[in-house]
Amino acid sequence: MIQLYIPLNFLGVIYREIKQNLTDLDKMFTLMDREREVADAPRAEPLRTNGPVDVRFEDVHFAYEAARPILHGISFDVPAGKTVAVVGASGAGKSTLARLLFRFYDVGRPGHPEEPTGRILIAGQDIRSVTQASVRCAIGIVPQDTVLFNDTVAYNIRYGRPEATDAEVEQAARAAHIHDFIQSTPNGYATMVGERGLKLSGGEKQRIAIARTLLKDPPVLIFDEATSALDSANERAIQAELRQAARGKTTLVIAHRLSTVVDAHEILVMDGGRIVERGTHLALLAAQGRYAQMWALQQSAERDDTAD
Ligand code: ADP
Ligand code: MG
Repeated sequence: MIQLYIPLNFLGVIYREIKQNLTDLDKMFTLMDREREVADAPRAEPLRTNGPVDVRFEDVHFAYEAARPILHGISFDVPAGKTVAVVGASGAGKSTLARLLFRFYDVGRPGHPEEPTGRILIAGQDIRSVTQASVRCAIGIVPQDTVLFNDTVAYNIRYGRPEATDAEVEQAARAAHIHDFIQSTPNGYATMVGERGLKLSGGEKQRIAIARTLLKDPPVLIFDEATSALDSANERAIQAELRQAARGKTTLVIAHRLSTVVDAHEILVMDGGRIVERGTHLALLAAQGRYAQMWALQQSAERDDTAD
């Protein structure tokens, strides 16, 4: 799972580097093999995000490889400012939705132009018709597994918005509950992190990713939660931060723990690349289907957890 996810984050990182430096295109293409397939349409214009920014998947079909279709007609709406949650077993296609929205891949099955592809719209615009850079500018991702630069803490946060002031970086870090930790490190915001610097825990890295996203302040957020590895106190704290960050934003939350999605505008239950159930938390409980089953299982697991 981690292996599948690192490329997503890594590609974002490389992409941003290139965008900022306009150097080393060869390296980018080696590392971002897929990027070549996702090209700006001729005369593509930037995404317009001055009005309400809603997200819409319309009958989306997708395969990474022609031989293995992954998504089989996914349709849903995230109204502007609302949160839609996606739940379901590992391998169901949840993270794929995030990758498609960020346009790491285009919809459809490679080599099968005759098949329906569907489309993904942000603020009413097909993301294939606008520039990739503007799509990625409009979206902040807090991924399952955050990869940090071998650079300072400040650099890693400011990367969300390079022109941000020190005060803004610190404000974002406070909001992500990582400021006190940063202050406690040897050089504060100038502390080097990553492979050759201070090693951070998964939770600390995720908080840095949250700070980065808060600083970026994009209209669309994607949280691909992997907080199940954290202890429940830490997880709850991070959930609260994520909820705070999502206020007023158009948000897609991929959730492993159902207690984090009870307030969602709509919950999509995915299995095998299809939405097999959908509705609000209460409606899904009342339906006594797969979601209700998952909920009951998790509730009893959490009771066992607290009993220990
Ligand atoms: P989830 O996030 O729900 O666990 P994913 O969206 O990551 O599921 O994956 C859905 C399916 O797509 C899985 O069967 C996975 O093996 C496959 N898959 C994911 N990434 C790739 C890839 N880069 N190339 C080929 N298949 C992939
Ligand atoms: Mg996933």
